[in-house]
Amino acid sequence: MSTEIPFYSLFHQNEQVKDEVHQILTNVFDSAWYLLGERTAIFEQEYARYIGVKHCIGVGNGLDALKISLRALNIGYGDEVIVPANTYIATLMAVSEVGAMPVLVEPDEQTFNLDIHKIEEKVTSKTKAIIPVHLYGLSCEMDEIMRLASRYQLYVIEDNAQATGSVFKGKKTGSYGHLNAHSFYPTKNLGALGDGGAVTTNDDELAHKVRLFRNYGSSVKYQNEVLGYNSRLDEIQAAVLSIKLKYLDQWIEEKRHLASFYDELLKDVKELERCTLDSSVREKHSHHLYVIKCVERDALAAYLKLNGIHTLIHYPIPPYQQKAYEGVFNVGAFPLTDRLTNQVLSLPLFPGMTKDQVQKVASDIVRYYSHK
Ligand SMILES: *Cc1c(COP(=O)(O)O)cnc(C)c1O
Repeated sequence: MSTEIPFYSLFHQNEQVKDEVHQILTNVFDSAWYLLGERTAIFEQEYARYIGVKHCIGVGNGLDALKISLRALNIGYGDEVIVPANTYIATLMAVSEVGAMPVLVEPDEQTFNLDIHKIEEKVTSKTKAIIPVHLYGLSCEMDEIMRLASRYQLYVIEDNAQATGSVFKGKKTGSYGHLNAHSFYPTKNLGALGDGGAVTTNDDELAHKVRLFRNYGSSVKYQNEVLGYNSRLDEIQAAVLSIKLKYLDQWIEEKRHLASFYDELLKDVKELERCTLDSSVREKHSHHLYVIKCVERDALAAYLKLNGIHTLIHYPIPPYQQKAYEGVFNVGAFPLTDRLTNQVLSLPLFPGMTKDQVQKVASDIVRYYSHK
C-alpha cells in the first residue's frame, strides 16, 4: 500500500456524492438545457441562503466574479483599488483588467490577512474600493474594514474565493461587502467539476448590474445595455454544486478537526509558527489551507517530499514580483510579503484525510527539526 500523502485529494468527497452526481449529470443532459436554466436559479437561491444574503449570481469563475463586481461598481481607468500584497494574483489581475490600479497593503504576519492598520495610509482621492481577501480561509476583520470603508466612502468587495463557509462575528464571509466574489475552482471549499464562481450581494440594483455583466450586458435577449462578458455558471456545474453544498459544512468541520490535531501535534516545535488566532476567530476558520510559517522552509519541504508527503507554497512568488507586473510596483517596498513568501508552507489537508496521515506529517516535521 502506498504511504504517499497527497497535498489534496477529491476522492473522498467524490465517493460521498457519486450516485447523486451521476444521476444529476444524466438529468441535465436529458433536459437539453445547459445555460441559465432552473438548475442555476436554484443553486443561486441555495447559495444566497447559505451565505446569508439576498442575491447570488452565478458566473464563470472567481476571477470573473471579481472583475464583474468591479465593473458593476463602475470602477475602471484612473481608479485605485486597495488589495493585499500577498494574495493570489487573481485579485490584482481583476483590478488591472478593468483598467484600475491595484494598491498593495502588507499583511499582518500573524493572520496572513491584510493589516487593517495599513489601509488608511494608502487611501487617496482616486481610491474607489477595498478588496479584502480571506486568505487560506480565515476571515479578515470585516467590521473594522466596513467602518473604514464607510468613513472614506469606499466600496468593499470581499474576495471570498478561499473562504466559503467562514464566519465572522456570526455572519458568513461574503455577506459583508457591497459585492462579494466566490470561486468554485475544484479544490476550493465548495468545488465544481471545472470552473465556476458567484457574486453575492444584498443590493437589488447591484445584483441586476452583475446579471447584465455576466451575460453580454443583456437582460432582454438581443438588447445589450453595457459592454459585458460571457461568464455564466452552467447548468451542470450549478446542479453539482447544489449537491455538494449539502455536504459542505460537514467537510469543513472535518478539516477543522484535522487542523486542530495539527495544532496540537506541532505546538512545541519552536521552528514553526502557526497563524496565531484569537480562539473565537479560530472556530470560524474554514481551513481552505493549513499553513505554517517555518525556518528552512525549502529544506523541510524537500525532506517531507522524500518521505512521501506533498506540500505546496501559497504563493512562491508574490504577485507584485511576477513578470506580468514588471515595472509596475516598487520592488522592495513589501518586505513583510517577501518574508512570508520565504516562510509559508501549506501542509496536506482535505476531507477524508485520516488522523494517522496528520500524525505522520506532524511526526516527520518534528523529526526534521529534532536533528538540528
Ligand atoms: C482561487 C482564487 C481566485 C480565483 O478563482 P478562480 O475561480 O480560479 O478564477 C481569486 N482570488 C483568490 C484569493 C483565490 O484563491
